[in-house]
Amino acid sequence: MPATPKTDLTDSADFVVVGAGAAGLVAARWLAAAGHAVLVLECGHAPVATPFESPELLRMLHGGGQWRTRGPDAISLQAGRAVGGSTAIGWGVHAALPEEVYARWVALDPAWQTRMPYAEVDLAHECTDAEFSVAKADRDLWGESGRMLMDALVGVADPVWRGAPGCKGTSRCAAGCPTKGMGSVDRVVWPIAVRHGARMHTGVDVQRIVVQGGRAVGVTGQSATGGRLAVTARRAVLLCAGTLGSLRILHRSRIPHTSLGMTLHVEALVAGLLADPVHDDRAAGLAVQARIPGVEDATLSAVSTLPRLRAMALPGAGLALEHRMELLANLVTWQVTVACEARGRVREGLLGPQFAFDPTARDRARVLAGVAVAADAMLDQGAVEVYPQAHGAPAVATTGEDVTAVARATPVPGVIPLFAHSFFGGLQVDERYAVPGVKGLVVADASVLPAPTVVPPLATVMAVAMAAVQRWA
Ligand SMILES: Cc1cc2nc3c(=O)[nH]c(=O)nc-3n(C[C@H](O)[C@H](O)[C@H](O)COP(=O)(O)OP(=O)(O)OC[C@H]3O[C@@H](n4cnc5c(N)ncnc54)[C@H](O)[C@@H]3O)c2cc1C
Repeated sequence: MPATPKTDLTDSADFVVVGAGAAGLVAARWLAAAGHAVLVLECGHAPVATPFESPELLRMLHGGGQWRTRGPDAISLQAGRAVGGSTAIGWGVHAALPEEVYARWVALDPAWQTRMPYAEVDLAHECTDAEFSVAKADRDLWGESGRMLMDALVGVADPVWRGAPGCKGTSRCAAGCPTKGMGSVDRVVWPIAVRHGARMHTGVDVQRIVVQGGRAVGVTGQSATGGRLAVTARRAVLLCAGTLGSLRILHRSRIPHTSLGMTLHVEALVAGLLADPVHDDRAAGLAVQARIPGVEDATLSAVSTLPRLRAMALPGAGLALEHRMELLANLVTWQVTVACEARGRVREGLLGPQFAFDPTARDRARVLAGVAVAADAMLDQGAVEVYPQAHGAPAVATTGEDVTAVARATPVPGVIPLFAHSFFGGLQVDERYAVPGVKGLVVADASVLPAPTVVPPLATVMAVAMAAVQRWA
C-alpha cells in the first residue's frame, strides 16, 4: 500500500487554543461567542465508544495508558487524548470547589482573589450545572457497589452530581459512553463553539510555542499526516493541553516559567468478594462517594465496571487465583482517592515525557488508612474476603486484625499500587493567566491550579477556563 504523503498544515486565528479538553473547549466556546476567530488544535480524534480491550481505547489515552511516574511507586497516569480530552473517558461527576480548599489556594497565592474571586467560581458552576444538566445520581444507577457504600457509611456517603442526562448505566464510562448519555465537553460545549464559528484541527501534535520579541505569535508541531504544523496566533496562544501536556510544551519551548510543582490525587482500588453475584448491569461508572471519616482530604467512591476488569485487584496464584477468577461476578470495587501534599515535576526527556512524583510518607499513610476504612466497611457489609493490595498486610483480609494490619503497614514507596486521573500543575501565571515575561501566552487549564481540588476537579477546571477567557475576550 502506498504511504500517505506527508502534508504540511498552516493556518491562523485570533486565538489559538492548544488542547480540546475540558478547559480548551470551554475557552474556545466563550472566545468564539465574543466574536473572535478561534482555532483549536488537538492531538487526539473524535472519541468512539469501544470495548475496554480495544486498541481504540488505548489511542484515547496519552502514552497508550502506559505513562507512569519514575521511582518505586510507578503511579499509573491516565489522561484522555481525544476531542473532549479526559472528559470523553470520565465519569461525568461535577463537584463544586469547596470554599475551604479555595481558601488554601489563596493562602498559597493571594492573587487568586483577583484571578478568580470565589463569586466567579460560583457563577461558573451555575452555568455549567445548567448546560450539562447536572443532577444527583439516580438510585437506579448506584449499582450494588454504590448501594453497599451508602449502607456502610450512612450519613457520610452521598450520590454524586453528574452531568450525564442520558446515562443508561452501562458501567463503561471510561471506554467512552456507548449510549452517548454522558455530557462530555465535545458533546455539550463544542457544538456551541462551532455555531459561533470556532474551528478545529484534530490529530495535530503541538510541540512548541513560537515567541518573537517577547510575544507568543503561534505554535509549531506535526500535522496529522506527519508533515509540519505552523499556526499563527494574532492575539494569543491559549495552552489547554492539560497539566501533563501544557507543562511539557512549555518545557520543550524553553520558555522560563515558575511552578509550585505538579501535584495530583492518588487513587487505590479495594475489591471485596461477596457471597452472591453483584448485579451492576444498570450502574453508572461512579455514582456514590463519601469523605473518608478520620482521613484528611480523602474520599471513597463506589466504582462499577465490567466483571472482567475487577480482576485487576485479585491476589494469589495457582488454584486460589483460579477460584477467585471464577467468582469475578461476585466482586465489588471501591476506590480510595487522596489529595497529595507531595510536589513533583513534568519534563520532556530525550526519549519522551518524564514525570517525577514521590508521594510523601503521610500521603501513603492516608491511602493505607483509607483502604483500611474501605476494607472494614466491606467486611461489615458481608464481604467474604477483601483484597487491600497493601504490602506488609495480609493479601486477603477477613478479620478486624487484618484490617488493622493494613492501616499499620509501613508507608514506604511502593507499599500499594497507585494510579491517578487528576493533575494540578501549580504553574504561576499573572492575573490574566499569562505566563510572566511572555506577552499573549495564556494558560487556562488544570496546569494553573495551585493545589489539589480534593473533590473531582472538572467543574473547577471549567471555571478557571471561563475566568481566564473573560480577561481576554
Ligand atoms: C478516566 C478519567 C475519569 C475522570 N472522571 C472525572 C469526573 O467524573 N469528574 C471530574 O471532576 N473529573 C474527572 N476526571 C478528571 C478531569 O477529566 C480532568 O481534571 C479535566 O478534564 C482536566 O481538564 P484539562 O482541560 O486540564 O485537561 P484534559 O481534559 O485532559 O484536556 C487536555 C487536552 O489536550 C490535548 N493535548 C495534550 N497535549 C497536546 C499536544 N501536544 N497537542 C495537541 N493537543 C494536546 C489532550 O489530548 C486533551 O484532549 C477524570 C479523568 C480521567 C482520566
